[in-house]
Amino acid sequence: MKLTMLGTGRAVVTECYNTCFVLHEEGRYFLVDGGGGIGLLSRLKSAGIEWNRIRDMFVTHRHMDHIMGILWMIRMICQASKRGEYEGEARIYGHEEVIQILREVSCMLLAEKENRFIGKSVKLIPVKDREEREIIGHRVCFFDIQSTKAKQFGFTMDLRENDRLTCCGDEPYNDSEKEYVQGSRWLLHEAFCLARDTECFHPYEKHHSTVKDACEQAEKLGIRNLVLYHTEDTDMVNRKQRYTEEGKLYFSGNLYVPDDLETICLDTGDFDTDNLEKGESNPDGIRTEENREDDAAMGEKEQQRLEAFEKMLQNIQKEHDSIQRQMEDLKDKGKTKSATYRQLMGRKMTYQSMISMYEVYGLL
Ligand SMILES: [Zn+2]
Repeated sequence: MKLTMLGTGRAVVTECYNTCFVLHEEGRYFLVDGGGGIGLLSRLKSAGIEWNRIRDMFVTHRHMDHIMGILWMIRMICQASKRGEYEGEARIYGHEEVIQILREVSCMLLAEKENRFIGKSVKLIPVKDREEREIIGHRVCFFDIQSTKAKQFGFTMDLRENDRLTCCGDEPYNDSEKEYVQGSRWLLHEAFCLARDTECFHPYEKHHSTVKDACEQAEKLGIRNLVLYHTEDTDMVNRKQRYTEEGKLYFSGNLYVPDDLETICLDTGDFDTDNLEKGESNPDGIRTEENREDDAAMGEKEQQRLEAFEKMLQNIQKEHDSIQRQMEDLKDKGKTKSATYRQLMGRKMTYQSMISMYEVYGLL
């Protein structure tokens, strides 16, 4: 089983997509939440997942950053069905409230001709607290996380024997979820920001936790693999490193702070190298042997390039200095009006402008 994060951000983000992900195995896909809109479709495309191969979806709660993308899926399925280009059915699970919203909003937004495929090509399936379903060949149990903001369900999925993955939605763990979370090999949990940035992002006001909180909790519950998501997006370049550094202080298992479009193999715990080859992700978590070889080859190539750049710079400076000396010689001889002097002047200016380019790029 693999986990591909389509988005990893909180509700209002501009530097990444809202938290949603796909669990997949042997060509079967289970989409959990849809993010805030049509960005879902581009994320799926980038991840190499064809939208029409997703036949099972689950929406945790009604917030816009989770439900809107699913409306696009409904629209795509209904339109493809209308064209006769969609075979079989897709199933969307959610608690009663979510299903009712999806039904009513689709009804209001879609054309009548498209709407008639709801219930046929798209089955909207309400699930109750503790209800179990088989999804992509695995037992999934949905549970109410007891949110006080908006009714929200999480789920636990059996992976292999005695192995479970549990998703707590986008709110901190609470004891009502203990029977599902405790003993899970994989826990997907929100972390709004670093503990030291609490003053800045106010996670508690929004019913969210810090990296420290999430990690302490996971440690207490004996979790082996913790995936953090639903974060602020102010420093995406360094998020993985900063969050991992803080988290490692409180959590002794394997900590994952994936970027959008990263895939984790849940059997091995490795980041998936398929995505790496496509250049679509930038993981620096657990590395495979193959990665290290690639890195070594890349390192050598880059080193050679760097040496060539340095050599070029040295030659430019040498040439510039030599011209300068020749010009001074001519000046001493009173030959500043000669053709040679003028030629040297032109060449000197060329080298000077090359040197100033190095300066502009901070290489000098
Ligand atoms: Zn959210």
